[in-house]
Amino acid sequence: MTFVYIGLGSNLCDPENQLRSAFAALKQLQDTHVKRTSSIYRSAAVGPGTQPDYLNAVLLLATKLSPTALLDATQQIELNQGRVRDIRWGARTLDIDLLLYGDLQIDSPKLTVPHPRMQQRNFVLYPLREISGTNLSLPDGSDLDTLLKQCTNAGLIKTKYRLLTN
Ligand code: ATP
Ligand code: CA
Ligand code: CA
Repeated sequence: MTFVYIGLGSNLCDPENQLRSAFAALKQLQDTHVKRTSSIYRSAAVGPGTQPDYLNAVLLLATKLSPTALLDATQQIELNQGRVRDIRWGARTLDIDLLLYGDLQIDSPKLTVPHPRMQQRNFVLYPLREISGTNLSLPDGSDLDTLLKQCTNAGLIKTKYRLLTN
């Protein structure tokens, strides 16, 4: 089993329900258990044009799936929930990003881990810290608490909602 942190995001078609559906699907994945879930966070979209606010959450999985098998499975969940890829960083029903896969560093055409843009994203770092319970060392030698000090939480709202395990 490897511990894997993933990020969920949605800003279309009832985002809270999208996150709950994704959570239900992730619980069904073979050889995978959802161990922890962050609160759901709300923030303004940073993508192109005017977009609805995002809801985001971070989950800790324990999985026997390989990184590419997990990516394939999460992309299938996105498709099942109507994800359409047109404009880069455009609005979406569901986005699932692999943030950390154990302490692996992966740099393939399909998959870069740690997620290359997580270090600047408050909607990733704050929920990640909520569930890590402790500072995390990243494979490049950086650590989560240092990244958090460099990343404002301005505009990030922690809601009272969460995806519940069990
Ligand atoms: P961002 O990557 O900046 O968060 P995005 O989530 O909108 O943007 P997508 O359109 O969802 O980007 O993904 C584009 C491609 O990124 C995917 O098809 C996938 O092959 C690739 N990818 C590379 N690394 C990762 C990763 N760590 N997690 C998920 N997808 C990744
Ligand atoms: Ca993303
Ligand atoms: Ca993505």
